[in-house]
Amino acid sequence: AKEITAKPYVYFNSKLSERLEERMSIEKRFPHALENNEFILHYQPKYTTEGKVVGMEALVRWLDPIVGVINPAQFISVAEETGFIVELGTWVMYEACRQNQAWQNQDLLPIPVSVNVSAIQFVHPNFVNSVEDILLKTGLDPRFLELEITESLLIDVDHIISKLQKLKALGVSISIDDFGTGYSSINYLKDFPVDTLKIDRTFVMNVPENERDAALLNSIMQLGRSLGLTILIEGVETKEQLQFFKEHGGDLIQGYYFSKPLTKFKMSQLLLTK
Ligand code: C2E
Ligand code: CA
Ligand code: CA
Ligand code: CA
Repeated sequence: AKEITAKPYVYFNSKLSERLEERMSIEKRFPHALENNEFILHYQPKYTTEGKVVGMEALVRWLDPIVGVINPAQFISVAEETGFIVELGTWVMYEACRQNQAWQNQDLLPIPVSVNVSAIQFVHPNFVNSVEDILLKTGLDPRFLELEITESLLIDVDHIISKLQKLKALGVSISIDDFGTGYSSINYLKDFPVDTLKIDRTFVMNVPENERDAALLNSIMQLGRSLGLTILIEGVETKEQLQFFKEHGGDLIQGYYFSKPLTKFKMSQLLLTK
């Protein structure tokens, strides 16, 4: 009887400690990784429905000398839990703005860069100052910076609205990322000074073959349009999805159908063919 109760306990315990160890090691490596320039940005182009490049999203990767490429899904949540996301997010924004300005100085196609802003980073009291500081330091025209925030922020209304207004006053654009997956504060959406709705890719995955999904996507698009927002769809992988989106009045597309995220070298080549 002893063994029977002991076994699952030991199993659970070792699994747990494995995970804890993994988390600890990621956590411990963060500060060094930043100093050591192990974080890099990839860029996923954003297109019009006609296939013209009109923007790009900066996506962080961690190039660990031992482990290799670590994707954001594996470290962003740990970075959020530990607070390291504030430092990392500041680096991401600085690097995206610096690179965009460098490309514009080389006379490449000038397009805005979007940066993901974690809720923890956004609510930090110093956030607006740090955006302003980065724009000053890099010399990037604020019209070429877009901040992607998630729906979860559309909750603490007064505080968030005033912060968004300050950011808009700087001249940057705001988009709501992963729209439809978080808390639905559709009532509030009209009060937020945002420019673009990025509809999450789960809404396009089974379109057009699944009629219910197609109807749902269409109504989300209508909602965004009725609020005067630019409608972007994420995760478009097929011609049929593109066609549906286009026919129902969508504006912008980001997805493997047009392009996967690119290294900065590949992105600069794309901007060269203007
Ligand atoms: P996200 O902001 O929703 O970014 C889009 C993700 O979807 C990217 O994954 C991209 O590679 C992927 N994707 C784009 N098109 C397609 C498609 O057609 N099909 C499929 N299956 N996937 C597609 P990635 O680069 O692994 O990033 C994952 C998430 O990590 C991002 O989701 C974002 O939430 C977070 N993230 C990435 N970079 C940063 C960052 O600098 N700061 C913060 N806070 N989060 C970041
Ligand atoms: Ca995003
Ligand atoms: Ca997204
Ligand atoms: Ca997503």
